Amino acid sequence: MRLIRIYNTLNAHFGDLKWWPADTPFEVIVGAVLVQNTSWRSVEISIRNLKERGLIDPLKIYKADKKSLADLIRPSGFNKIKSLRLKAAVAFIMTETGGVLSKFNKFSLPVLRKKLLTVHGIGPETADCILLYALNRPVFVVDNYTRRIFSRHGLISEDAGYETIQRLVHDNFPKSVKKLNQFHALLVETGKRYCGKTKKDCVNCPLLGFGGC
Ligand code: SF4
Repeated sequence: MRLIRIYNTLNAHFGDLKWWPADTPFEVIVGAVLVQNTSWRSVEISIRNLKERGLIDPLKIYKADKKSLADLIRPSGFNKIKSLRLKAAVAFIMTETGGVLSKFNKFSLPVLRKKLLTVHGIGPETADCILLYALNRPVFVVDNYTRRIFSRHGLISEDAGYETIQRLVHDNFPKSVKKLNQFHALLVETGKRYCGKTKKDCVNCPLLGFGGC
């Protein structure tokens, strides 16, 4: 119930955040790989570079020269590592679906998640972003903002693991793609605006009154 109250409070405060900002599911996947350890603003520049070369397409990235790809995504940092991760993600997509993302529908959620986690450079957070925001599967995405907000409000311990936090939400929140999409977005927005790593703005935060601050 507490999670639902948190959701309702944040939802009333921020409104529909319309995540994920992308034109296609494949663009979501590209963004999910590129956003690792960097800001969304820098990812936007890389995606724009890829779009200008017509590369937001699984087959085209699959065939792209590694160095050219790394140059285009340089703005999002760790570009050589991320170009390999992008290539690995696209190789997975091509092998499993031939580039047609809707063919992922043949897999159950647990099977697909397990498969994604075998891909080089795809950890739980990236896998769940892809599942939720690109493939419309009902999973909760856990990130540092979630961990910070939940622990500051006594819902989890500070050192709770990814799966523990995800289970808390899966067991106590509707299994709705729309709501899970919005809940993660709301927590990110709350973390960015009010609940910083070293600085909290509880007085102005919509979660003031939920205890723990
Ligand atoms: S800023 Fe304060 S009230 Fe807001 S989420 Fe963080 S701890 Fe809670």
